Amino acid sequence: MSWQQRIGQALDERRAADAFRTRSPVTQGAGRYLTRGEQRWLNFSANDYLGLSQHPAIVGAWQQGAARYGTGSGGSGHVTGYSEAHQHFEQQLAEWLGYPRALLFISGFAANQAVIAALLHKEDRIVADRLSHASLLEAANLSPAQLRRFAHNDSAQLAQLLAKPVEGLQLTVTEGVFSMDGDSAPLAEIASVTEAANGWLLVDDAHGIGVSGREGRGTCDEQNVKPDLLVVTFGKAFGLSGAAVLCSEEVADYLLQFARHLIYSTSMPPAQAVALSEALAVIRSDDGEARRQKLREHISRFRRGAESLGLQLTNSTSAIQPVIVGENHRALALAETMREAGCWLTAIRPPTVPAGTARLRITLTTAHHAEDIDRLLEAMHGVRQ
Ligand SMILES: *Cc1c(COP(=O)(O)O)cnc(C)c1O
Repeated sequence: MSWQQRIGQALDERRAADAFRTRSPVTQGAGRYLTRGEQRWLNFSANDYLGLSQHPAIVGAWQQGAARYGTGSGGSGHVTGYSEAHQHFEQQLAEWLGYPRALLFISGFAANQAVIAALLHKEDRIVADRLSHASLLEAANLSPAQLRRFAHNDSAQLAQLLAKPVEGLQLTVTEGVFSMDGDSAPLAEIASVTEAANGWLLVDDAHGIGVSGREGRGTCDEQNVKPDLLVVTFGKAFGLSGAAVLCSEEVADYLLQFARHLIYSTSMPPAQAVALSEALAVIRSDDGEARRQKLREHISRFRRGAESLGLQLTNSTSAIQPVIVGENHRALALAETMREAGCWLTAIRPPTVPAGTARLRITLTTAHHAEDIDRLLEAMHGVRQ
């Protein structure tokens, strides 16, 4: 088989399964509206949960940061790319979340790959929630350690898997809020069975940070759990991009030696770190609290309305509100109908979610107005099975 044949066959298979992915450029993709040239839709697809991507103080901070530091960091943090702005933001994050150290990464994907690759050895075992994000499961698959997956949020099965004999060390991996279902992990139980097995716990709180907990400290704060490794990302509620790993002094020093994504990659622009500090200040402020309150109101408004329409929701109390529709073609057709009605949302299909559970993934944001939620619900009238 030639390269052309191999690639052509893979593309044909994707098309045949209604799973072919494409991108289309937007004029504006985060915030209340998605705009494409002259066309405009209410945006129910972005992860900008608090509407911070458009916040004037944060935009201003990025501009000022660029004026002061220039555009790029100039190199890896191990050479010249670790600025005072990076250090300042890391210290703020560590203090906010109650960890000795925070290390910045350019993305959540990179952070998860780096941590799992750096920590796990061949004789070790990773036990991960079956619905963990691709960046976690792929890192676990690539690592030399054994990977075992437990049924979604099933801490009893997790305990059973952790109890099986293992030569090396064990790492439990889960998320604060699951990206495709919007539900939360039972972190206290997961932490306690992990501790009982002498394992460590990694929680990826990409969708919880900024949104839940005191001052937006996330799902772990909300559930009063302190994982050994906490990954937070800034592409969602923070309205920017990047990520951080919160950990002990020793783990931070270890990652600085062995995390290749840190060592062999240009650090984020210092101006981005300045903007992230400003985003954190907003998240912790009364403005942040008011934004979280408004988001919670949108979420209850949507769930009340969707339940009265008889739609199949998940038990999510987060800004991620999937409506399960089943088959791929149906999800695609419904997403199209919704767009015709002025509401932009995404059909999520396998392999991102299990086969037969294609869904419309609706995300709500503080940037929405209450009447936007009503308009979405009105457009969803036709979705009932
Ligand atoms: C979005 C997401 C990531 C990836 O983070 P990026 O910063 O976008 O690379 C990792 N984990 C989870 C759970 C996510 O939802």
